[in-house]
Amino acid sequence: MAKNYYETLGVSKTATDDELKTAFRKLARQYHPDLHPGDEVAANKFKEVNEAYETLSDKQKRAEYDAAQAGGGSSGAGFGGQRGGNAGSSFFDEFVNMFNNDHHGGGGQTSNGGDISLNVTLTFEEAAFGTQKEITVNRFEPCAACRGTGAKGGTQFVKCTNCGGTGKVRYAQETPFGRVVSMKSCNVCNGTGRIVKEPCTSCGGRGSLRKNSNLRITFPPGVEPNQIMTIPGEGERTRSGAKAGNLILTITVQPHKLFRRKGLDLLVDIPISFTQALLGDKVLVPALKGNKIAFTLPEGAQSGMTFKLKEQGLENPKKQAKGDLLVTIDIELPKNLTREQRQKIKELHESFKPEQYDKAREFIKK
Ligand SMILES: [Zn+2]
Ligand SMILES: [Zn+2]
Repeated sequence: MAKNYYETLGVSKTATDDELKTAFRKLARQYHPDLHPGDEVAANKFKEVNEAYETLSDKQKRAEYDAAQAGGGSSGAGFGGQRGGNAGSSFFDEFVNMFNNDHHGGGGQTSNGGDISLNVTLTFEEAAFGTQKEITVNRFEPCAACRGTGAKGGTQFVKCTNCGGTGKVRYAQETPFGRVVSMKSCNVCNGTGRIVKEPCTSCGGRGSLRKNSNLRITFPPGVEPNQIMTIPGEGERTRSGAKAGNLILTITVQPHKLFRRKGLDLLVDIPISFTQALLGDKVLVPALKGNKIAFTLPEGAQSGMTFKLKEQGLENPKKQAKGDLLVTIDIELPKNLTREQRQKIKELHESFKPEQYDKAREFIKK
């Protein structure tokens, strides 16, 4: 008789991919040969669960299986044996990943420290010029009382009998390609080869404690908004001898009231009177450091024109690169004209010839 894959996984015939995956993970964990060395029944169950999931997790195979089942045929039995090379390998990858992940789970029991992600906000100037900042990281640190060993007094150990003190065990894994034997870290002693005789009372034998640590972080000049900085070894620090995780900082840069940034270039808009624009002028442009840069506005500058002040932008010392300061002109017309001003402007207007206006001339042509 055909095996019922849905029953094997304990799901309904309408189960979603997520439901299938959840059910599969739960059962695969439950019957994993690792946990039942030499247990034939568990091994068979594990095989059945794999077979059921392999078929149902593949859309095409599932449809074929459903069709065969609906036809009341016994042909469904054949499905477990069908394997496309590609489908099989992605299944295998996921399977291996799943168990790799499992071995790293469980908080402080992990052999390596996990990564910690934090958001950091810098002011526009801090990001531009670089800064040092104190950051509080809540993380596992090796326990001081047992020097990160987890053993009371730091010395009381016995050899792990599960792995004979090597910290590694051979294990077999049933995969779609058959039985794979490999070495893995001993889960009894966490790969250390020794077992704590009397656990440290400060950390409960874990070897590490969660605490707040203040770190002084140097942000280099020219940090970009949303830049991600990875600081190796400043993540979770589990027991002694284990590799520490990384600290991953995502940087938010606050906007500036005057300046904007484009890479290393600084952008600023400056208001200019219409007379300055017409006649040209010496103008002081604000710089990010608070000083002012003198710049000669040429005669006849039009609204929206951008002038480049070379190498007055941001600096990246590492790349020995300097950005420019890009000054965009915003021409402002005076308001509340007096009668006298109005009269003079009128006279002025009448003195202008049409060919003095480029845009208007072009416009009329079109
Ligand atoms: Zn301790
Ligand atoms: Zn061991």
